[in-house]
Amino acid sequence: MATHRKWNYEGKVAFVTGAAAGIGQASALAFAQEGADVVAVDLSEEGARATARLIEEQGVRTLAVKCDVSNPNDVQAALAATMDTFGKLDFAFNNAGIEQALAYTADISDELFERNLRVNLGGVFYCMKYQIPLMLKNGGGCIVNTSSGAGVVGIRGQGAYCAAKHGVLGLTKSAALEYAKDGVRINAVCPGIIDTPMIGRFTQGTEENRKRMIAQEPIGRLGRPEEIANTVLWLCSDVAGFTIGHAVVVDGGQTAGL
Ligand code: NAD
Repeated sequence: MATHRKWNYEGKVAFVTGAAAGIGQASALAFAQEGADVVAVDLSEEGARATARLIEEQGVRTLAVKCDVSNPNDVQAALAATMDTFGKLDFAFNNAGIEQALAYTADISDELFERNLRVNLGGVFYCMKYQIPLMLKNGGGCIVNTSSGAGVVGIRGQGAYCAAKHGVLGLTKSAALEYAKDGVRINAVCPGIIDTPMIGRFTQGTEENRKRMIAQEPIGRLGRPEEIANTVLWLCSDVAGFTIGHAVVVDGGQTAGL
């Protein structure tokens, strides 16, 4: 069990999507280290279970749920399982997402566009749609959605991904306004280039591609998943109580000079 807790989320229940890897896994573990019970949600059942085993080591309760966030029935079932097991929902980190293969707009297939929007934007929509009523019933809660640097700037070859991630900010801000007075605080995090399996696929594992990514980061290195997790946990804390509808850019300076 963690001895030094910064936020102490004992008694809280956190729902994390994309929990099998990268930013989602680091955040699920960070919630657990702070004493929260954690629902680890992922398309990969095996991956969700593996994260749940790591969470258990923190001495908190956990539930692994296989769920495709782009499927509203799956999302409803995952939240129903959360309520059956823990009886409430305090925090949601809607983070599951997929990358886009590089393609200029005229070359993006309809299928690629629709799939990217369905997972990266639709997934956040379905999660919020079914989480908010549970939080309202609970007297409040905090939601953090994962956007991206691609949510605040355009990127050549990333039209579908950028559209989805800009959309996440639109959804986040609108929902944040709608529920601010009800105690449901909703924000977004916009990661820069973070060292996760997604970036491994994007760089195809070559050192040259990795160096090219690092060169985009003024800080001179890639971000660590835990650095995004820290922001997510801060956004869920009372310290961030006046932070509403905000897109917190955590990107090593990548977009500062643009
Ligand atoms: P990752 O690929 O390493 O992990 C993503 C996880 O989401 C995987 O476990 C995967 O199985 C799961 N997932 C994918 N589609 C899903 C679906 N339909 N339903 C449920 N789970 C699904 O990715 P990551 O780098 O940790 O990225 C997490 C989020 O952060 C994504 O939304 C991504 O777009 C965003 N992001 C990442 C970076 C980066 O540099 N890594 C930068 C900006 C934004």
